[in-house]
Amino acid sequence: MTLPLSNSIRAQDAKHVVHPHTNLRTQPEAEPLVITRGEGIYVIDDAGNRYLEAAAGLWCASLGFGNARIAEVAAKMLTEIGYYHIFRGAANAPAAELSAKLSAIAPEGFDHVLLQCSGSEANDTAIKLVWYYWDAKGAPQRRKIISREQSYHGTSTITSCLTGKPKFHTGYGLPFDGFLYTAMPYYYRNARPGESEQDYSTRLADELEEMILAEGPETIAAFWAEPLLGSGGAIVPPDGYYEKIQAVLAKYDILFVADEVICGFARTGEMWGSQTYGMRPDMITCAKALSAAMQPISAVLIGERVFEQMKVQSDRFGSFTHGYTYAGHPVAAAVALEVLKIYEEMDLVGHVKALEPGFLAGFEALKDHPLVGDSGGVGLIGAVEIVADKETRAMHPPELKVMQIFEERASRNGLITRIIGNRIALSPPQIITAAEVEEMFARLRRALDETAQAIAG
Ligand code: PMP
Repeated sequence: MTLPLSNSIRAQDAKHVVHPHTNLRTQPEAEPLVITRGEGIYVIDDAGNRYLEAAAGLWCASLGFGNARIAEVAAKMLTEIGYYHIFRGAANAPAAELSAKLSAIAPEGFDHVLLQCSGSEANDTAIKLVWYYWDAKGAPQRRKIISREQSYHGTSTITSCLTGKPKFHTGYGLPFDGFLYTAMPYYYRNARPGESEQDYSTRLADELEEMILAEGPETIAAFWAEPLLGSGGAIVPPDGYYEKIQAVLAKYDILFVADEVICGFARTGEMWGSQTYGMRPDMITCAKALSAAMQPISAVLIGERVFEQMKVQSDRFGSFTHGYTYAGHPVAAAVALEVLKIYEEMDLVGHVKALEPGFLAGFEALKDHPLVGDSGGVGLIGAVEIVADKETRAMHPPELKVMQIFEERASRNGLITRIIGNRIALSPPQIITAAEVEEMFARLRRALDETAQAIAG
């Protein structure tokens, strides 16, 4: 039963809210999901339905939904100061403590932290830092940036260019020149028959090298990669991928930026996806689970090689000419600091490592399902790929609307997932328990069974 309050919210929403990633013409007629409360990994809608939120919102709500301890920290900081900036050397305690803590838990060598407000801002800033670096090094012609097809790095003007999904470019006259996209590592669909993971990785590294040589290595500034492609489909890289890619980057002295906006904070089983996959980036961008998504905050973790040149530039020009009003916001920083304390207390990495075998077993078990092709993950992130034919890996015709049917059946079974093309991604809040992991897969199987029945007619 819909509550009167929700009716007025629905009316206001339909009339006034511009929804991201939504058809703006049909949206006012659609019945929106109105989530009103959260309890751990569950969210509850205005009709009282409970959903196991297996997408952690947008891959971000690592501590689940609603948290009194965080509320207290935010309220204290709001009462004490509410806002102050960190421009022109001004310091605030939460920003300082958070930056120190982040450096301490970062991979070795990331002592400098640039606080921002979103994942897009972090990547946007890191692009500027790449250009700042090459300018300082006397190579300002190194401007081109290589990312991967189907990667997602943000939605600001420049990070839309970095994002390797054409749908983020069309209609906006993007990308700008100088953004290049190399193949995504997608072994299940793009490897050749009989090609091993190592051979496929070698082929992708060779293709990257060919692109660099065709463009001129002296024009390439940086390579960007999410350790594991998130919005591209929660796709685990094949064996040897980063080792081979990094050899190419080193050969041509190209900077490497790891976008850990999804993978940071134990999503892949280590604190950083870079550690899971042996990546040695020059900068790391992170957001989302940095504050368990309870405040908008992100960070660029800067390695010594880049920071040295930032100092050179700030000497040359008088200051580091970059900064957002809300950078180092004390409320957001205090919340993030408390979240990192909670991670420490719960032994986040240990917790995810302990859950990983059960999580991966859930994917393995689904391989017998008639609709499931690829199925797997790492840490607490993974996906199943829906296919019409397990042998040929052919997809269902779009007019069958299989994923729409699945989403509706999942919802009826109290499950929220992230649908990406024909893939169903799972990235539950990291506070999930082993029993809840089992429950998640049980709901997923029921939704898949009902989908198979529905499409069989
Ligand atoms: N990078 C990655 C890997 C992401 O998944 C996202 C968001 N999904 C972003 C960057 C952009 O973050 P935001 O939406 O906070 O700007």
